[in-house]
Amino acid sequence: MRTIDQLLHAHLREIEPYTPGFQPSGDGWIKLNTNESPYGAPERVKQAIISELERIALYPNPISLNLREALALRHGLDTSQVIIGNGSDDLLNLLVRCFGGNGKVTAESFPSYSLYPVLTAIAAGQLASVRFSRDFELPVDKLVETSADLLFLTNPNAPTGIGFKTEQVRELASRFDGILVVDEAYAEFAGETAIPLLAEFDRIVVTRTFSKAYGLAGLRVGYAFSSPGIIQALDCVRDSYNVNRLSQAGALAAVNSPEAYEPLIRETIATRDRFSRDLRELGWFAYPSSANFVFACPVDGHGKSGALIASGLFQYLIDNKILVRYFPKHPLTDAFLRISIGSPPQMRRILEEIIKWQKG
Ligand code: PMP
Repeated sequence: MRTIDQLLHAHLREIEPYTPGFQPSGDGWIKLNTNESPYGAPERVKQAIISELERIALYPNPISLNLREALALRHGLDTSQVIIGNGSDDLLNLLVRCFGGNGKVTAESFPSYSLYPVLTAIAAGQLASVRFSRDFELPVDKLVETSADLLFLTNPNAPTGIGFKTEQVRELASRFDGILVVDEAYAEFAGETAIPLLAEFDRIVVTRTFSKAYGLAGLRVGYAFSSPGIIQALDCVRDSYNVNRLSQAGALAAVNSPEAYEPLIRETIATRDRFSRDLRELGWFAYPSSANFVFACPVDGHGKSGALIASGLFQYLIDNKILVRYFPKHPLTDAFLRISIGSPPQMRRILEEIIKWQKG
């Protein structure tokens, strides 16, 4: 008899799966590790989800048509330029299925969203990882030189929060001849977007999510804008009912409630800028963030920083029921913590704990 290992595709035997941020059970945690919204969803959105339960026995619309139409209208695009996913992760996966994988090269700038290499490895693709230098300027020349079939650009970048100007993305798009995916999971906090570039380039894909600014991470809805040709290709390879009925209803209500979200986004941006200032006043270095998180290098009470200091504070915060994110595997990230922007009281609380830790 053959073993399971023998039956498994050879390239999947040693694969390192994606590690999601820890989701604790139980109460009392301050959760600043996965960039969710601290404000939850507006009442109107929750009501839309509850009302949809009446129709739960029926399959959902297979193409999430109402949501495609609403998003197209909101962004001045045609419905043929929109696709909806089970989270934007679903769409990133579909992009690899269509344009990456076996026989193809997928490029990324490193560090960025650590799912891209995992999706590439699952699809038996080749990865070209272009390292940022410490100034985190966009390495346009090096990305173009990869000659990749598919390129993931996270803008604003994760985990640093650094935003790239649309002009730089335009330059990249005009010189790179593969599919350029601009992952705009955090764009609502940035004010820059590649959406206008869709009118100039048919090989750009912009992915977005309801998980961050819209406070709906638990619903799992993302969307992508591109040219009709690329959307058609993605539609061919997605699950036929990839977005459930409750998710479609909730996300539609969210798109139709901009007045509920705008103040929350403004508050998150103000809280982020205040928190970044507070950290710098403690002597920390923090990258300028265009997202709903801050990537900062902790400094202890003796003025020391580094991987041991960052991991020590990470553990100290867990002991005090505060979760942040630590990426220990690379010298560009191992002296840093990524801290999501929560509510003002949550950020006061983490700051108090940091000050206590600094005092030892
Ligand atoms: N892109 C980036 C850069 C992210 O940080 C995340 C969240 N982890 C996602 C995409 C995925 O978001 P979701 O699947 O919840 O839409």
